[in-house]
Amino acid sequence: WAKADGKSRWTLFDPERNAHRMTRQALASTLRPAIERGEFVLEFQPLVGMGEGAVQGVEALVRWRHPQFGTLGPNRFIQLAEEEGAIVQLGRWVLAASCRQARQWQLEHPDTPIFVSVNVAVRQVWDSDLVADVAGILAETGLPPHLLQLELTESAVMGSAGRPLQALQALSGMGVSIAIDDFGTGYSNLAYLSRLPVSTLKLDGSFVQGFRDDEHPNPADETIVEALVDLAHRLGLKVTAECVESAQQAERLARIGCDTGQGWFYARPLAAEQVSALLSG
Ligand code: C2E
Ligand code: MG
Ligand code: MG
Ligand code: MG
Repeated sequence: WAKADGKSRWTLFDPERNAHRMTRQALASTLRPAIERGEFVLEFQPLVGMGEGAVQGVEALVRWRHPQFGTLGPNRFIQLAEEEGAIVQLGRWVLAASCRQARQWQLEHPDTPIFVSVNVAVRQVWDSDLVADVAGILAETGLPPHLLQLELTESAVMGSAGRPLQALQALSGMGVSIAIDDFGTGYSNLAYLSRLPVSTLKLDGSFVQGFRDDEHPNPADETIVEALVDLAHRLGLKVTAECVESAQQAERLARIGCDTGQGWFYARPLAAEQVSALLSG
């Protein structure tokens, strides 16, 4: 069985894959206690008005300060939390912490109101009473509903006849804004989305990445974004561009008419105190 080349073709016991699987298991089994131990933290990335360049809101992005594995980004554990069902509990924590923080900014900086935009997983819409959770958290924190935006993916709202549609209508009726995250990566269409109480499309970063600064830009990407933005506006939707990394991209997106931008060009995800400093600035 020993291999002359020292490389095993035994994929079943590939040590790297095994380590990966063990890490996944370790993470999965400690998700719930980690929420209780307060190991999750939020960063906030500014959403900037394309015209005047002012911070209009921030997106809350969750991180896990893992005692053993260091700080983990959401791509390491959100899907896991969805599979394990822990996403409902984690999502509730994110929502409460985001609203508490946004309320604090509102009290500290009454003249520069900013909204907080919170990612909501599919299972939070289907398997939990999202409407009751949001209503309870707004009441507890005192955050005005118009300073809360929820980001749902296309897959969370597609085929949203029953429960999700009712939830969206109730939330929108409360004054909470709804945005469609990563728009353009799924199979939804604008005609359908325009019938939902959605106010903003967040154009997926892959579109913006086609706006290269090199000598070979992809003109098709720019044409598609132009048409999407135009159609969205005619349907009464606002457009946020994700993943804006350069001045050229920002300039082109502004010319096309995107309403807000988000990305490293404007700001990285920040700690809450750094956002406070921005608002004081
Ligand atoms: P998203 O909602 O599309 O968030 C934007 C992601 O793009 C963030 O990654 C952000 O750090 C990254 N980003 C921002 N600007 C740039 C840029 O200019 N260039 C590039 N290359 N990337 C940029 P992050 O924080 O790793 O989050 C990844 C995904 O995890 C999020 O994508 C969202 O789907 C999910 N996520 C984050 N926080 C939560 C949460 O609290 N609940 C749920 N359910 N999902 C979350
Ligand atoms: Mg998002
Ligand atoms: Mg997004
Ligand atoms: Mg994205």
